[in-house]
Amino acid sequence: MNKLVFRFNDKNSKNKINSKNILGGKGANLAQMAKLGLPVPPGFTISTQVCDYFYKNNKKLPKSIVNQTKKEIRVIEKITKKKFGNLSNPLLVSVRSGSRVSMPGMMDTVLNLGLNDETVVALKNKTLNGRFAKDSYRRFIQMYGNVVLGIPSHFFEELIDNYKLTKGVLQDTELDENDWDGLIKNFKEVIKEKTKKNFPQNVNEQLWGAVNAVFLSWNSKRARTYRKINYIPDHWGTAVNIQTMVFGNMGQDCATGVAFTRNPSTGTKELFGEYLINAQGEDVVAGTRTPQNIIKMNKDMPKIFKQLKKIFNQLEKKYKDMQDIEFTVENNKLWMLQTRSGKRTAKAAIKIAVDMEKEKLITNKEAVLRVDPNMLNTLLHPTLDEKAIKKIITSGLPASPGAASGKVTFSSDEAERLKEQMQDTILVRIETSPEDINGMHAAKGILTARGGMTSHAAVVARGMGKPCVSGSSEIKIDYEKKLFKAGNIEVKEGEIITIDGGSGNVMLGEVPTVKPHISGDFSKLMSWADKYRKLKVRTNSETPLDTKTARDFGAEGIGLCRTEHMFFEEKRIISVRQMILSNSSEDRKTALSKLLPYQKGDFFEIFKIMNGLPVTVRLLDPPLHEFLPKTDKDIDNIAKELNISHQDIKSRIIELHEQNPMLGHRGCRLGISFPEIYQMQCQAIFEALAQCKKKKIKLVIPEIMIPLVSSAAEIEILRSLVDKTAAKIQKEHSIKIKYYVGTMIELPRAALRAKYIAKYADFFSFGTNDLTQTTFGISRDDSGKFLNDYVENKIFGKDPFVSIDERGVGELIKIAVERGRMEKKSIKLGICGEHGGDPASIDFCEKAKLNYVSCSPYRVPIARLAAAQSYLRKKK
Ligand code: PEP
Ligand code: MG
Repeated sequence: MNKLVFRFNDKNSKNKINSKNILGGKGANLAQMAKLGLPVPPGFTISTQVCDYFYKNNKKLPKSIVNQTKKEIRVIEKITKKKFGNLSNPLLVSVRSGSRVSMPGMMDTVLNLGLNDETVVALKNKTLNGRFAKDSYRRFIQMYGNVVLGIPSHFFEELIDNYKLTKGVLQDTELDENDWDGLIKNFKEVIKEKTKKNFPQNVNEQLWGAVNAVFLSWNSKRARTYRKINYIPDHWGTAVNIQTMVFGNMGQDCATGVAFTRNPSTGTKELFGEYLINAQGEDVVAGTRTPQNIIKMNKDMPKIFKQLKKIFNQLEKKYKDMQDIEFTVENNKLWMLQTRSGKRTAKAAIKIAVDMEKEKLITNKEAVLRVDPNMLNTLLHPTLDEKAIKKIITSGLPASPGAASGKVTFSSDEAERLKEQMQDTILVRIETSPEDINGMHAAKGILTARGGMTSHAAVVARGMGKPCVSGSSEIKIDYEKKLFKAGNIEVKEGEIITIDGGSGNVMLGEVPTVKPHISGDFSKLMSWADKYRKLKVRTNSETPLDTKTARDFGAEGIGLCRTEHMFFEEKRIISVRQMILSNSSEDRKTALSKLLPYQKGDFFEIFKIMNGLPVTVRLLDPPLHEFLPKTDKDIDNIAKELNISHQDIKSRIIELHEQNPMLGHRGCRLGISFPEIYQMQCQAIFEALAQCKKKKIKLVIPEIMIPLVSSAAEIEILRSLVDKTAAKIQKEHSIKIKYYVGTMIELPRAALRAKYIAKYADFFSFGTNDLTQTTFGISRDDSGKFLNDYVENKIFGKDPFVSIDERGVGELIKIAVERGRMEKKSIKLGICGEHGGDPASIDFCEKAKLNYVSCSPYRVPIARLAAAQSYLRKKK
């Protein structure tokens, strides 16, 4: 290892290091500000490579670091004319973390380093300000004691609070030099008692103690959790910035503050921030004193305010983004301590991007790249009021965003009943099945104990745009007693809970929500995104309501219409059950003929809304027993209706039971065994089209999709069934209808045999939910139990049901794309698994050269933006 330490403004350095990878974000930006000639206190950065060395070498630092650091301290000493540990004019420094991307508050900082029993006297003499010197020393002991020596800060806080009580004062500012002197003594005693050692007086020992602590804080629990949530790689490491201390707490001509160059909540172009006179940075964030609005600085320190405003403009011009800034004023001199791109709400992100384009700071391409597509979620659903008090009782997977409150109900029928009485409910189930569709429709939100991000509950809820928390494994549901337990808390039917499908939290009582607001800036950004994206965006939808929502959000077609969801309404399910329970093809046909008008009606409504756009209709997919009655009461009802004995139905249910229904009699296997089912569905599609034609509605081009195909022979047989039905209806109605027939690719064998399957398919749609399930051999519904262990042990980077596993599932997709196009160059390729709405997976789809992605209605805008970003990034 050679150069490990980088001066902020190394004029002699030929090595123009400005990379965040080496210097971390804070270091790189301090260096940048210094280069711009802004007032940055002298300092240097120990690179992230040292952090890497530290963890690879048993938490030891490389030898050469000591000399390199000493050399840089000498440079600072020369500039500031102060000396580290000197007894007449001591140099004090801050030691701060700084990784590639900002991890606010996740790692450690030590301020006022270099003070000891002797230098504090020197500081007092030099500044002629005893109170300031002692206040700084006690702050240092407190911070060092906490960060480096691991003593919880409340030990120190309590001493200050008790002292203020005895003295009868409220504010720290009311304590004088003598008070702090006494507290310093007490602080040192705490340290002696807890560590069995004296507080270190040697300034070099202090320095290396602090540097070590910052590197160690990279692996603190909160930093690791933050990285996990934000997908920040563990190997990036942090840099350490050592910088001359400047003081905002030396008197009334001193101040410290934080500010944003624009409002991070609304995006409005206005100064936004706070400052405190006679204070250090931690006072602003700690909330012990109430900071002033930055605008007031115009009155208190007009010259400094003017200078700050100028610098803010300079920084925005340089970084072409809204900046989050820390500054300190020491005896009327302004010092810049940090600048970084500020965190902002989704609303602000959009406004800032659009405004900056107007201001010609960035191009519209850059504006498109500025907004994180995942953030849009918060704009499309009602969200919890940030200011509301929340009593979180448990959590699960954030399966479908948005927030909802309602009475706990454990049955779908009850949810429906309560809806009729205009009551809001949260449907709480161990897991949902297609039979719960009515309850899910009726409820405001869904909470399940089992099931992953692609479980039935999650998929359906997202489709409906309803909040859902799935796989909340801590809750124990007792359907008999009509209650669930989360730890010690018992929640009974009828009690009100709130779920937040964006965070996965479950709360007791009603938490107020705020409605989404889609502004003009939002549609402007979307129009730019549409201009640049190549991938088309379709939606997964099977109800007129979802279809309409999706079109309003800009869907360019339906990529997956799951026809089984249409079978669950009360009037239909009886015929579906009759169809399943039939023993002969004739009986089955009779039952199907009752379903035909319903299916036809469904398709007609959807085709009408889609008005000429492509619609992919998937023929029946799930195992038949999913439709069967489950309770004795249901069995009795159907027995009566169909005039069969209760026992006969039970035997048929047992007959239909499968050990592995996901690998069982489902998908095209149903079409092979019972061709009359698919035949009825095709008849419904073409008759609906004939009706459209009659009513002069623009004809959609149906894409009839066969699910779970694994061999060319299956699609060969079923395509011919579709063609025959199409021909028959066209002849009957004397019309010509354009249609396509294609297949889902959701089994590894289908991907491998794509060349042969393509012979009979006009399109492929990748069903990545099943493809992930079958490639890994992991159940999409039950894997929630152990997926976290896999992520924690770094076996999975991300849940493969959320973001495509590019190495395995992605490889199969690439193989299928290549082999499919080898046979049929024009074959249309899309994705309709849940991954179709995930920005990282959309990026993969762009690289894999698919034609479209299809996702749930509420993800359509996210997909539009993500698709544009993928294309623009690829072009860069
Ligand atoms: C899939 O498997 O990815 C798919 C879209 O189908 P379903 O989720 O209905 O099985
Ligand atoms: Mg599937």
